[in-house]
Amino acid sequence: MFLKGKTAIVTGSTSGIGLEYAKVFAAEGASVMINGFGDAAAIETERAKLEATSGAKALYDPADMTKPDQIAAMVARCHAELGGPDIIVNNAGIQHVAPIEDFPADKFEAIMQINLHSAWYMMQAAVPHMKAAGWGRIISTASAHSLVASPNKSAYVMAKHGLAGLTKTIALETATHGVTVNCISPGYVWTPLVESQIPDTMKARGMTREQVMDDVLLAAQPTKEFVTIEQVAALALFLCRDEAKAITGANLSVDGGWTAA
Ligand code: NAD
Repeated sequence: MFLKGKTAIVTGSTSGIGLEYAKVFAAEGASVMINGFGDAAAIETERAKLEATSGAKALYDPADMTKPDQIAAMVARCHAELGGPDIIVNNAGIQHVAPIEDFPADKFEAIMQINLHSAWYMMQAAVPHMKAAGWGRIISTASAHSLVASPNKSAYVMAKHGLAGLTKTIALETATHGVTVNCISPGYVWTPLVESQIPDTMKARGMTREQVMDDVLLAAQPTKEFVTIEQVAALALFLCRDEAKAITGANLSVDGGWTAA
């Protein structure tokens, strides 16, 4: 239980990769604050399970990542009720798939706010607490799309490239304070986010569901396998260990070889 006494906030952790991060932190004894949207009863079930696993407190905060004031309030609430935050994971993210000429401006704005700007506001609120503690771990879920592009994902690719740049900058700003700042860049992970973009990709490319799975999603991944949420979360957990303290400002690929091609 190497995270006993530590506190972690994971944005967008009611589902998918984010919920898995919360589970692995709790399994090592951390207090966790989960966040995101979804069914209230299902969220409460997950929160209670996290508390049972960690033997420490687990809280749910409904902060909307498009709202800077709610982000700051969530970090302040964590500090007041759990301590820290010692670890933050910027993970909330959405996707929209369309050629630029058809891309709705409101979707563009939402992707920039949720996938990129929220990470800046999270870091702004959390870094003073980490500097004061002399220890901190900032992890962001970027994507293979922080390194390479795909057509019809202009907003997502732009936001994820931005997240990689933000990671490097804040790593430099915190390097002498015991704080590390990294991003993890998965390839295709089988989660509700990937499942939900299949219909739009079918429409945008005139393909069947099977063609999208084989020719678009797994076409990019030389292993021909989806990455698992467990593989992504295991790397995040390693980044929290003392052995990982020299890893900062890195963009770590977990993409089945996608960006090697
Ligand atoms: P998911 O849809 O399962 O989870 C997204 C989470 O974000 C949910 O908890 C959702 O409620 C939350 N969320 C959405 N809008 C929000 C808002 N305004 N405020 C607060 N929370 C909000 O998706 P996932 O696949 O687990 O994605 C998690 C992260 O991983 C995203 O940043 C995504 O871009 C990234 N990623 C996913 C894949 C993949 O293949 N699944 C690959 C690379 C990167």
